[in-house]
Amino acid sequence: MSDQGSGVVLVTDVAVAPVVGPEIESGYIRIEGDRIAELGPGPAPDVPGAVRIDGSGCLATPGLVNTHHHLYQWASQGLVQDATLFEWLVALYPVWAAMDAEVVRGAATAGLGWLALSGCTTTSDHHYVFPKGRGDLLAAEIEAAREVGLRFHPARGSMDRGHSKGGLPPDAVVEDLDDILAATAEAVDAYHDPSFSSMLRVVVAPCSPFSASAELMTESAALARAAGVRLHTHLAETLDEDEHCLEQFGARPVDYMDKLGWLGPDVWFAHAVHLSDGDIGKLAATGTGVAHCPSSNGRLGAGIARVSELLRGGVPVGLGVDGSASSELTPLSGEMRQALVFQRARLGPRALSARQALKLATLGGARNLGREAELGTLQPGKLADVALWRVDGPFTPAVPDPVCALVFGPPPPLARLLVGGRTVVADGELRTVPQDVAGRAGVAARHRLLRAAEEQGVTVGSELDVRSRSTRRS
Ligand SMILES: [Zn+2]
Repeated sequence: MSDQGSGVVLVTDVAVAPVVGPEIESGYIRIEGDRIAELGPGPAPDVPGAVRIDGSGCLATPGLVNTHHHLYQWASQGLVQDATLFEWLVALYPVWAAMDAEVVRGAATAGLGWLALSGCTTTSDHHYVFPKGRGDLLAAEIEAAREVGLRFHPARGSMDRGHSKGGLPPDAVVEDLDDILAATAEAVDAYHDPSFSSMLRVVVAPCSPFSASAELMTESAALARAAGVRLHTHLAETLDEDEHCLEQFGARPVDYMDKLGWLGPDVWFAHAVHLSDGDIGKLAATGTGVAHCPSSNGRLGAGIARVSELLRGGVPVGLGVDGSASSELTPLSGEMRQALVFQRARLGPRALSARQALKLATLGGARNLGREAELGTLQPGKLADVALWRVDGPFTPAVPDPVCALVFGPPPPLARLLVGGRTVVADGELRTVPQDVAGRAGVAARHRLLRAAEEQGVTVGSELDVRSRSTRRS
């Protein structure tokens, strides 16, 4: 629903980067209901009774699409600061094992609010830790997404390959295969909405090759394909994973996924950092997508994904902030710049342009989520998910190209964020949930999680910090 029920909203005197089609130096966007009706150069048409949003000094882009996240990790930020992915996971699994629905709800409220403030209108979330007897964790994050007002693609994650079966996580945090499949099917039945205007679509998402069994992978794929929902997992994030896969499965990650029937246009992988030319060819040939998470890959020292080569090969690539415990307060808008500078550092200044980076964050993300017909560009008929970036602030350098100002610089202030025509952010403030309430919910979630972890015998304040301090000294 738009700000005016089923009425008309006009964004006026605004620069528009629609991602597909010509850019507009100064023009308007006409929104009817939850869809874009028209956009063009010059003054807005006179529509009696329309709500007018003054877009002067702003750049309108499609709302950004986040294709990889772990919202619960808001509650465990700043820990294990100097570790590899495997070290970081092994240290944090026992902390996460203490989470409950209240932790997830608070962490998700803060994390979703933060995403909205960085221009995100649609986000996926990969939730894969489900400790027994701790409430309905998926329902908790879905409730938070409804309150904050973002389009949500929760991925029902899972792990069934604990330490005793050769996996990385302790046995205490994995679930039983049958329980996982039953809960996943239930989540699809309860929440998945395939409609054009959908605010919620469920994804099936075993966690990774080193925490999910081959059987869980193949059964999950069968379940998702029968239900017509998408598949997601972590893949090829680190060289440790490469080694693990070669040792345990006799194949590198992409070949292993190929063997399990996990390549296809309904699949997207998080990270995909360590790919050979042959791997890229396989992803391209099958239409398998990639969620590029540059800040998280940098923080964990995982490497830099070969985004320029993936794009040249025709692989769908979107952006992801990844969980807040591996990327801290990463704004999704900032990931455009991070992606750009990483590729340029690898391959020179023509490796990725500002417009390509914007496309990754919008249309690329929409393709990963299977929503390119509805989202990712500003075009008549698409959903009215729009970000208005203020590019005329007192400290904004006089950059004549607003797309360059958006991508090259630090993220500019967000003047307005519309999801289906409804205001979620105005003048840099969340309008759906009071901003201080969302922030406090995140802090309360952290306190609750760390207290519960300590009650279960995990010494968060010392053991994890000692690990991080000793790494720093060396
Ligand atoms: Zn992740």
